[in-house]
Amino acid sequence: MPDIDQIAPHGGTLINLLASGAESEALRAEAANLPKLAVSDRELADLEMIAVGALSPLTGFQGEADYHSVLDSMHLTNGLPWSIPVTLSVDDDGAHRLGGATAVALTAGEGGEPLAILRISEIYSRDKAKEAVSVYRTDDPEHPGVAAVNAAGDKCVAGELQVIALPPHDDFLPYRLTPAETRAAFAERGWKTVVGFQTRNPIHRAHEYIQKCALEIVDGLLVHPLVGATKGDDVPADVRMRCYEALFEGYYPKDRAMVSVFPAAMRYAGPREAIWHAICRKNYGCTHFIVGRDHAGVGSYYGTYDAQQIFNEFAPGELGIQTLNFEHSFWCNRCEGMASPKTCPHGEDDRVSLSGTKVRDMLRAGERPPQEFSRPEVADILIAAMSERS
Ligand SMILES: [Zn+2]
Repeated sequence: MPDIDQIAPHGGTLINLLASGAESEALRAEAANLPKLAVSDRELADLEMIAVGALSPLTGFQGEADYHSVLDSMHLTNGLPWSIPVTLSVDDDGAHRLGGATAVALTAGEGGEPLAILRISEIYSRDKAKEAVSVYRTDDPEHPGVAAVNAAGDKCVAGELQVIALPPHDDFLPYRLTPAETRAAFAERGWKTVVGFQTRNPIHRAHEYIQKCALEIVDGLLVHPLVGATKGDDVPADVRMRCYEALFEGYYPKDRAMVSVFPAAMRYAGPREAIWHAICRKNYGCTHFIVGRDHAGVGSYYGTYDAQQIFNEFAPGELGIQTLNFEHSFWCNRCEGMASPKTCPHGEDDRVSLSGTKVRDMLRAGERPPQEFSRPEVADILIAAMSERS
């Protein structure tokens, strides 16, 4: 690998908890005799992220002191910025069953193979009301993040993890790069500066434009779609991935852009999740991170620029990754190009902009949106996916 100075992981060390060879066998043998705890899909995603270092410096599920510190001040007890608690929940029965145990084997689903051993440090009460208001800025049970918190158990079990195997996947395998692997890929390409782009949606011209504006000032672009749990009405990850492939094939320079997947579950926590997404991408080796309007938002819970402004609550340099804030963008007929309110003086009549609802209606009717809005290759994939589903 070429010798390139890369951005330090959050906290300074890239965590890797995946045991190898003999150690893994020993853990597997030990796990066979431990109490088992089936982990939800969301927490399984967190387990994977902790294991591979995407959540560095975390080495396990957070204890009560860190939990409250994150809620109260967006920092860990050691002073590092951290915006969303990473916890493992159990219901009261589960907590009772684990009472006195010093370790528990975590499984994917009931009866699954043990994936990790958690060395239990404490079991504590989850303050759901406080968590909802701190992280999601609302206690509305309709908010998907709040709903997930409310649906989880009332206790959290905390402790260090030792990982036997990563959660099994059968999709996107060539794209499942760990932070160590994206860092190696950046070094191989000679990229000193890399901008990360979080997405849970297909990429239309507006997002392509923003990515390429960012790419003008850095060496490389990592399109990093989230493929963990999302809301039921988001476009499925496999369809999105086909769109990214078509876009990359037709419109992105191969030596300047790459796509790999982000295994996290979506929280829809808006501003706090923007911080969390940025910290994770720093661990993946990104030096820059794009924050658009209403990043990680849902409904009308957050102000348009809240997710950009929250970064100002940290001291300069404290997060270690540079955010790039963007406005919404569009094709302007008079500018004859993509533009934003920052660069285009013309009015709405000259701009090609369509609401999400309008775009969905067109696609559902088998109609391509204008090519100024969406690349035809992307539109065709979405049209085909919609007709398969209906
Ligand atoms: Zn214009």
